[in-house]
Amino acid sequence: MTEWLPFELHCHTFHSDGKMSLEELALAAKALGLRGVALTDHNTMTGLAGREEVTRKTGIEIIPGLEWTTFFGHMLTMGIRDYVDWRNLSPFHIHRGIEAVHRQGGLVGVAHPFRVGSPMCTGCFWEFEVTDWNEVDYVEVWSGLFPSIRKNNARAFGMWTDLLNKGHRIAATSGRDWHVSDPVSEPVCATFLGIDGCAGGLVPAALDALRRGAVIVSMGPLPTLAVTSPEGQVAGVGDELRLQTGSRSARVAAGADFSAREGQWELPEQKLTLRIVSNAGTLGEFAVTRSEPSASGDISLDGVRWLRAELYGTFCGAHTMIGFTNAIYVRDLHGGSELT
Ligand SMILES: [Zn+2]
Ligand SMILES: [Zn+2]
Repeated sequence: MTEWLPFELHCHTFHSDGKMSLEELALAAKALGLRGVALTDHNTMTGLAGREEVTRKTGIEIIPGLEWTTFFGHMLTMGIRDYVDWRNLSPFHIHRGIEAVHRQGGLVGVAHPFRVGSPMCTGCFWEFEVTDWNEVDYVEVWSGLFPSIRKNNARAFGMWTDLLNKGHRIAATSGRDWHVSDPVSEPVCATFLGIDGCAGGLVPAALDALRRGAVIVSMGPLPTLAVTSPEGQVAGVGDELRLQTGSRSARVAAGADFSAREGQWELPEQKLTLRIVSNAGTLGEFAVTRSEPSASGDISLDGVRWLRAELYGTFCGAHTMIGFTNAIYVRDLHGGSELT
């Protein structure tokens, strides 16, 4: 049974340009109903000293990380043990750095790829040349507070969709780029990681979820998605659905979990729309409410290589996407049209 735990995956302390200590960050995360954070200070890991003690005191898990902050883009790294130097990375050599992170078992993600760069925010706009997107683990498609209404995030979301359409299996996250713990009026988003048991510790389980694409992003209720193949295989978010026979009809179950971070967001009573989106266009739409939060139906997976759920409604005065799941991938083992 997968448990979806909310994390904030992009945070700074006063070890770079944040205004919080690690303990203050953890306490602020706890107050927002989060289960953990990734500390991604700019070019330093010194803020992680004492992280076990902070976790013991606050109950907040802390994923060790680092935000490479360069003139050519910002890259988030997570799950590394030792500092990985970035200063030799020219615009054409980002893969050297990525390999060094992967050698440590860590993950890399492109931070806020379309945020305005110089002179507003030096290096914030992504300009590194990525020659193999299969080596990039995730893209931070929603950045900042109330991320769904920001134009630069719509571009990042489109970039993620393009990568999926090209056959890459790449995760999408949100990141507040959290620097200050002051209360805010705009909605806070969380990245929910699908934990399938954590005997080895929650931090490795969280990293594993991100690696598998077991990721759902939401500012409010949690959109959920599962697909059952004609042969009875059930695929959840991040999984691969394998089609073994000629049948392309599958059962999709989608829903909204209103208990996710309950009390941390407000939603007027309404019908929310869950749209099932794929490389082959929209596959279906379901209405869900607090009293009827789940729906199911048959869809055709003809030509479908990936699908995800997007949750829409009126949120904080705007009609907007409230959250989205990462992809379920479809592999056709029958038709010989091996696409991925
Ligand atoms: Zn940044
Ligand atoms: Zn940052």
